[in-house]
Amino acid sequence: MARYTGPVCRLCRREGVKLYLKGEKCFTDKCPVQRRAYPPGQHGQGRRKLSEYGVQLREKQKARRTYGVMEGQFARYFGKAAQKKGVTGEVLLQLLERRLDNVVYRMGLASSRAEARQLVRHNHFAVNGRRVNIPSYSVKPGDVVRVRDGSREKTRFKEMAQPQARGIPAWLEVQADKLEGTIVRLPNRDEIDAPVQEQLIVEWYSR
Ligand code: SF4
Repeated sequence: MARYTGPVCRLCRREGVKLYLKGEKCFTDKCPVQRRAYPPGQHGQGRRKLSEYGVQLREKQKARRTYGVMEGQFARYFGKAAQKKGVTGEVLLQLLERRLDNVVYRMGLASSRAEARQLVRHNHFAVNGRRVNIPSYSVKPGDVVRVRDGSREKTRFKEMAQPQARGIPAWLEVQADKLEGTIVRLPNRDEIDAPVQEQLIVEWYSR
């Protein structure tokens, strides 16, 4: 599946918020959102009033970029969410949270979703004992995600076995020493910290 390979800090600058795409750098004062708080490009510093369409579009792009999903796949997530019971915007965010790369990131085993995606692609994870290398794999309650035996000695994971500074959401139960986590239940909206107003995304797709 395709993925965005260009510079990521400009995505945050475009959206005007930190999307935490770069790992450790996001927590330092080198973060460009703080240093250059205006959109990227030659005309970034000009004044611009967004139309209603523009506001909705930005919200959709923000969600898409936060989870590292391309346009077509995001539209498919929306289609799926619209068919399910419940509030469409919340179901959409829930579907995005259930991606395996996001779960690995939330478990604290990667510093960003991009890194988590790469670790998954490189066969470092198993779900319920079976190797899974598809970043978009959708986990369900009761699933156990763990670092595979052959990958446990990786320095990266050894560091991660230490108690996590980043909070772990309540819908995940993580056993850091075993490098594994269980999906206890699906996340509630207030447990998803993505900086988006999902209702605007629904409006965008309902034009
Ligand atoms: Fe770059 Fe991270 Fe700052 Fe975004 S939050 S601009 S990815 S350093």
